[in-house]
Amino acid sequence: MTTVRTRFSPSPTGSLHLGGAHTALFNWLYARRHGGVFILRIEDTDKERSQEKFVAEIQESLTWLGLTWDEGPYRQSRRLHIYQEYVERLLAAGAAYYCDCDPEELKVRRETMLARGEKPRYDRRCRELGLGRGPTAAVRFKTPLSGATHWRDRIKGPIAFDHAELDDLVIMRADGIPTYNFAVVVDDITMAVTTVIRGDDHVPNTPRQLLIYEALGVEPPEFAHMPLMLGQDRAKLSKRHGALPVLEYRRQGFLPHTLNNYLARVGWSHGDQEIFSPEELIRYFSLENVGKSAGIFDMEKFLWLNSHYLKEMSPLEVGGNLAFYLAAAEGGRPDPGYFARVAATLQARCKTLAEMAQAAAFYFRDPRPYEAQAAAKFLIPANVALLREIMGRLEALPELTEAAVSGMLKDVADAAGVKVVNVAQPVRVALAGKTVSPGLGDVIAILGQEEVARRLQNAIRFIEENSSPDESARRT
Ligand code: GLU
Repeated sequence: MTTVRTRFSPSPTGSLHLGGAHTALFNWLYARRHGGVFILRIEDTDKERSQEKFVAEIQESLTWLGLTWDEGPYRQSRRLHIYQEYVERLLAAGAAYYCDCDPEELKVRRETMLARGEKPRYDRRCRELGLGRGPTAAVRFKTPLSGATHWRDRIKGPIAFDHAELDDLVIMRADGIPTYNFAVVVDDITMAVTTVIRGDDHVPNTPRQLLIYEALGVEPPEFAHMPLMLGQDRAKLSKRHGALPVLEYRRQGFLPHTLNNYLARVGWSHGDQEIFSPEELIRYFSLENVGKSAGIFDMEKFLWLNSHYLKEMSPLEVGGNLAFYLAAAEGGRPDPGYFARVAATLQARCKTLAEMAQAAAFYFRDPRPYEAQAAAKFLIPANVALLREIMGRLEALPELTEAAVSGMLKDVADAAGVKVVNVAQPVRVALAGKTVSPGLGDVIAILGQEEVARRLQNAIRFIEENSSPDESARRT
């Protein structure tokens, strides 16, 4: 059996957006499902619009998503000699011809046709002239004048196009740069691609490409045109509706697997299942279960999925993601164990890694400046004795476990005849800088004896420095 070979072939004229990631994912899943090969090809023949920074960003995005490629990245701009060779073959077979119509003149002719209400197309003026190579001559494909091209699309079923609908398209410009439809065919042939999976906006290109295969005498790959992903308003994805670059979702604190799971379900289904592990996606993915209609990007659901994964993944995994998110571990604590413990206290509370990073900030750096309202309410002279007492009791604890710390806080509250929260809030503000944080037992156990003592000291100093002389006098 032939090995399945798929490719993702973006043009580096912009960032990799969610729509591109959707196509990349389906190609990657199909290759992985069949033990095949996934190829990355950069379609960078448009010199003006292609940029190196996007080539790098596309690779970084795919790597972050885990959509690793087995071959490539191939670059079309480095393969010009190959396209030239295939153009020669078509010319020799009489399936292509030189055309030296002046581009300005072509524009005028096109406008005239439009003005007459006709579909603008090349009038095939040079088709039978037998022109030779020349500095201003482009090469056009000799599209058959009658008949039709059919194929059975793996997703859309049978499709046919009348040749009368098609133009004699330029396959190579006078400067030796191939055009999209031709370069793609040569690449897919030479890279032995077996299955072309791409957005269904490419359906009209497929008959053109199939005719080129035929003229070259090469068996075409199979085609699968996947439905586009639309925004909730059913319009093309826009900035507001999920058209952001993949790396922007990383910045916003989404997990890479959230994107993969979410995008897999746009247009594809496996019964009613919504949650898939990476292994399940590979095991169940099939083109037969890709629907024909457009998928909708639903931000609410996307966010829900992310919070689901933050809750369900092991603390070690969430911690690893958080560590990555925070890139350079603040406060010099790159230890994965530490991140895992931090993550365990926040997984159930946060929808995104961005939210988690914000809530976790105090684990990595001094909580000062304190939130003004929290400090005004709890870091007051009346609480100095309490903070001192807690410090002493913590030092006396044989081990700083969550249970030991919680028990100690309860003892202090009972002895003073107050609720635990009255004891906990001043301590919380001293340690976290605010009145909301994970359970204090966990916070203290994670920060550790030394850091907790330092923060309590700082809070006491803060109270002393900020209270009026009257109040200080009363205290001494
Ligand atoms: N470079 C094309 C695009 O970005 C690829 C189309 C194809 O897969 O053939 O849409």
